[in-house]
Amino acid sequence: MLIVMDKDASQAQIESVIAKIKALGFEAQPIPGGERTAIGILGNPGAVDPAMFADLPGVIQAIPVSRPYKLVSREWQRADTMITLPGLELGRGHFVVMAGPCAVESEEQALTIARAVKAAGAKIFRGGAFKPRTSPYSYQGLGEEGLKILKRVREETGLLIITEALDHEVLELVAQYADIVQLGARNMQNFTLLRQAGRCGKPVLLKRGMSATLEEWLMAAEYILAEGNPQVILCERGIRAVGSHARNILDLSTIPAVHRESHLPIVIDPSHAAGIRYLVPPLARAAVAAGADGLLIEVHHSPDTALSDGVQSLYPDQFERLMGEIKDLRPGSWD
Ligand code: PEP
Ligand code: MN
Repeated sequence: MLIVMDKDASQAQIESVIAKIKALGFEAQPIPGGERTAIGILGNPGAVDPAMFADLPGVIQAIPVSRPYKLVSREWQRADTMITLPGLELGRGHFVVMAGPCAVESEEQALTIARAVKAAGAKIFRGGAFKPRTSPYSYQGLGEEGLKILKRVREETGLLIITEALDHEVLELVAQYADIVQLGARNMQNFTLLRQAGRCGKPVLLKRGMSATLEEWLMAAEYILAEGNPQVILCERGIRAVGSHARNILDLSTIPAVHRESHLPIVIDPSHAAGIRYLVPPLARAAVAAGADGLLIEVHHSPDTALSDGVQSLYPDQFERLMGEIKDLRPGSWD
């Protein structure tokens, strides 16, 4: 339930609505807007009768929120969320490309790729320092040393940094270095991590689990918002595939579906969906055409020797060509 207050409602009227919500044993969340304040009711096990609030002084409307997720829903907040980063915005018409290797391997590797993706127009550098690998024998990342390399990349190139927090033990450390904290597909329902990400003080990119429904994904995002962090970017990276022509199936229907259901921005990762290089550019172009708010793309200057995901990483010149094509598809919306 969302209680919409009159634009002339007094502070005392707002407080008495909050007191009534609390007296019923629920949680009240005031949402100040440009014009008027709304107060959300959370923690109610079943439907709340709008009539209990509709006639209170200062209330103009009590709107039932029909979805199981609240804070992330379009019903709760009509305007698109804009992610505010240092010198950069994402969402609400601001389109951003994040690119870089799957994993940070060395300072030289990271800087070489960062310079190339920056020259092509990327604004955010991606690279895992802590890697979620299917096999315990695969490359696991450089850990904190990788984060330090990312910091140097940021200092030298001015690119912002997105990197993954693999578990709740490293989240705080990752948040000190990252401009955006990535939560991976395998962690989408790691509720301890989601809650902690809600308190980390940095924007969070939440990947869709590889067999998660849209509702489960939005409920996972709800955990982060419920802890007080409204800066969440959703990222579709493909769901379990049948057949072997692609690593996963890129579900582009999530773009309009997320935009309908939620105010949060959605970014597409065609690299992990494709699993193979030649599929990445067409999938990226399709995502842009379908209205994605950004892209997350793996790029490597030497994919054959990459320690992870080389076969799906674009060569820098392919990435540059793709950026040109994207600009043709989406002119005028670049920061
Ligand atoms: C990644 O972005 O490198 C990654 C591991 O992605 P995902 O969680 O989507 O598999
Ligand atoms: Mn990868």
